[in-house]
Formats: sequence, structure tokens, C-alpha cells
Amino acid sequence: MNPQLTRGLCYVVASIFFVLGLKMLSSPRTARRGNVVSAIGMLIAILTTLTAIAGVKWGWLIAGAALGSVIGALAARLVKMTSMPQMVGLFNGFGGLASLLVGWSEYHWNWAGSAQGSPFITVAILLTVLIGGVTFTGSLIAYGKLSGAIQGKPILYKGQNLVNAGILLAIVTLAIVFYIADVRRLPAEPGALVYTLLMGAIVLAFALGVLSTIPIGGADMPVVICLLNSYSGLAACAAGFVVNNSVLIVSGSLVGASGLILTSIMCRAMNRSLANVLFSGFGAAVTQASQYQGQAKPVNVEDAYLILEAAQSIVFVPGYGMAVAQAQHAVRELGSLLEENGAEVRYCIHPVAGRMPGHMNVLLAEANVPYELLVEPQDVNPTAEMVEVAVVIGANDVVNPAAREDENSPLWGMPIIDVDRARTCIVLKRSLNPGFAGVDNPLFFKDNTRMLFGDAKASIGALVSEFKS
Ligand code: NDP
Repeated sequence: MNPQLTRGLCYVVASIFFVLGLKMLSSPRTARRGNVVSAIGMLIAILTTLTAIAGVKWGWLIAGAALGSVIGALAARLVKMTSMPQMVGLFNGFGGLASLLVGWSEYHWNWAGSAQGSPFITVAILLTVLIGGVTFTGSLIAYGKLSGAIQGKPILYKGQNLVNAGILLAIVTLAIVFYIADVRRLPAEPGALVYTLLMGAIVLAFALGVLSTIPIGGADMPVVICLLNSYSGLAACAAGFVVNNSVLIVSGSLVGASGLILTSIMCRAMNRSLANVLFSGFGAAVTQASQYQGQAKPVNVEDAYLILEAAQSIVFVPGYGMAVAQAQHAVRELGSLLEENGAEVRYCIHPVAGRMPGHMNVLLAEANVPYELLVEPQDVNPTAEMVEVAVVIGANDVVNPAAREDENSPLWGMPIIDVDRARTCIVLKRSLNPGFAGVDNPLFFKDNTRMLFGDAKASIGALVSEFKS
């Protein structure tokens, strides 16, 4: 068979694997298989591409692939669940850098000196290096904020949006001048004007990545990472046009589109616009004194045990605090004991609970909580009054009734889990401190709420011991 046709067919097969893999990622039940299927697609794509290149230096390629595989495997094995968001962010950034290097090297080695020009390829090169550059440095900042290496609070200064707009304008101007010079095939060796224009635009793209990410608070970084993930897909897609590789175009588009969809889902789940996430400096405000008055009612482990022991319908609502406490295994154990006690137990997960999309799903799956017990707010809210006990484990903003009751609250309109409408609500946390949004929570003062203060893992562990004794 014609080698080009064979390669085309292999690329189609790889693309089908990507699409199927992505589809499987939409359910926790099939997500692992989806990962494997996508990885097989990638292997087919890489091998097919290698067979197309004449004079491949196999030694370099094998050494690079082995080094990358070792780093990837170690990172995946060693990373803690709470550090997952920053690892995803870092890998994203490397995706952007890889696209940038593909675009730049194609320009440097093949394009700059060639006699033939193509406006289309010039634009593709520009898009690859610029989007790749913004993705790389933006992701590094996101990584720094999530890992605590850089302060999580938004870094704001006067005229910030104007400065960023100025840099964007400068990039566009350089890109247009570069485009005009490149399609005229002006001399483009390193040091020549055309080459310098491109390098200048890349440096400014690096700067824009940094400056547009620092005003965003650490806890909004997961949204930014989804957006940057989408950018990295677009950069890869543009790189696909530069090197004329159809499977790179397809995979880049898939990443670009899915990243955008995820960004939009997360913004909707927080009832915030993307512009609000990117430009409002959310999380910078100093927390004010509580405007909700009342007496929180603490409960001790023995009394919490008695409430749970008598209940037939229980909903666990995990949040960021469960991830911090690493309480998921203890929660699963308590859930099993309650089921043995005859109760119906469900785990209700808010889409933005925690600090990354699917954070709670991953933790509970790690603790072997059956998928069919994981439910969403819309499964619980309509019949919230029928829930005998809602157990809130280190969640705060996602159960804050101010989102429903207080028009002046920054959370107003955010869809929440209506734990306050359960007959009894037990909240496990260490204090009355607010969560990520810095907003006080009237739930703590409701008549039917009991506060079980302490580290979530210790509290759940103590409840498990009560059940066992
Ligand atoms: P929150 O940040 O609102 O609250 C977490 C709570 O956990 C804190 O109030 C803290 O209270 C408690 N906590 C911390 N450590 C422990 C511990 N060891 N034991 C017990 N409790 C602990 O988390 P939610 O999950 O409710 O909400 C997530 C927030 O993050 C939302 O505002 C959401 O919009 C935002 N967000 C989420 C994204 C995502 O991808 N998931 C993306 C962007 C934003 P205390 O200190 O008193 O213990």
C-alpha cells in the first residue's frame, strides 16, 4: 500500500482512539480505560510520525522518550492528591512550550531561509509560538500559586489591565509587521529584522502569560489551568498546520475544545463569568467581621454518633477540607458502617468542591466508594427535606445558604447543596473560619446545624471507633 495512504489511515485510527478515550473520561467508571485508550492512540500517532521522517536520529529520540517516561511515571506515582492541580498545570505548560519549540524550530531551520513563502504557514507559526508562550509562563505562575511557591492572593496594581492590554497590542503589532515582512520573504536569518520581530513577540508573549495570571487568586487557578489547557490545545493545533500533521491538528482541537467546555462548566458552577475570574481579583478582599449573628452549636463525637446511628438517610458532602485532611478512606469506612446499620448513604459532590475539577470524585474513587453512590446537587436538592442527616466534611462555600438567601453575598446565585434543609446538618471543620471565597457562612448558626470541630480525619476516625466499640 502507498506509504502516505497507510500513514493517513494510522492517523485516522489514532484520532478515533483519542475521541473514544475522551468520551470515556466523562464517567469515573470508564475514565481509567479512557486514559489507556488515549495513550494507545498517542503511541500510534508517534510511531506513524517517526516512520515518515527520513534520517531519524533514533538514539536521541529513544533517550528523550525514556527520560520523559521516567519523569512522568515518577511524578504520577509520587504526587500527593492535594498537589494534583499544580502537576496538571505544570504538564500543561510543558505542552505549550513544546508547541512553541515546534513552531520556532520549523521557522528557524526550514522556513526562514526558504525562497517560497506562504501566508498561511506564517500565520500558523505566529499562532503556535505566541499561544504556546502565553501558555508556558501562565502555567508556571499557576503552578507556583497552587504549590505555594508564589503567594496565592491576587497580585494587583494600578493600571494592571491597561498594562496587559498594552502588551497584547504590542504583540499584535509585532506579529503584523512580522507577517508583512515574512510573506515578502525579506532576509530572516538570526539577527535580521524579521527574526528579531518574531523573537520580540515571543518574549512579550512570555511576559503576558506572567502578568495576566498574577492578578488571579490561587483558588481560581484550576479555572485558569483549564483555560491554559485549552490554549495549549490550540497551540498544538496550530503547530499541526505548521508541520502539516493531521493527527496533531485533531488532538490539538480536541484539547482546545474540551478545555474551553470545562472552563465554562466551572464558571457556571460558581455562577461567575470568565471575565470575573480573570479580571476581578476575586479573593483579594480582606475578610470583614461576620454579618451573620447567632450561636453555633458544637457537638461532641458521642452525640454525633447517636444522631448518625439513628438516621436512615444520610448524605455526605465532601469539600476542600476533606482533601487537606486526607479523610476519604475514613469517610468510606464510616459510610460502610452506616450502611451496615441499615442507612441509605449517598455522597453528594458539588462540581467546584475542592480545588480542581473532579477533585472529590478522584479522592472518593481512590477510597473505593462505589460510583453509584456518588450523586450531584440536583439529585439531592429537590428532596433535601427528606435527608435525615447531612454530614459536611470540610466543605464551606459549596454549602453556604447565603448563595440563596443573601442578595449582597459575593456567592449570591451560586448553585449550592442545600444541606441546611436536611433535618440535621453536622459540619466537620476546625473553626468557624470562612472558605476560599472569604465569605461567612450562616449555615453554622442555623437551628438544625451542629458543629463537630476538629480535623476531619480525626473526627471521622473517632466516629468510626464509636461505631466499632
Ligand atoms: P472551601 O474552601 O469553601 O472550604 C474548605 C473548608 O475546609 C474551610 O472552611 C476549612 O475550614 C475546612 N478545612 C480545611 N482543612 C481542614 C481539615 N484538616 N479538617 C476539616 N476541615 C478543614 O471549600 P469548598 O470545597 O466548600 O469550596 C471550594 C471553593 O473553591 C469554592 O469557593 C469554589 O468556587 C472554589 N473553587 C474551586 C475550584 C475547583 O476546581 N474545584 C476552582 C476554583 C475555585 P477550617 O479552616 O475552619 O477547618
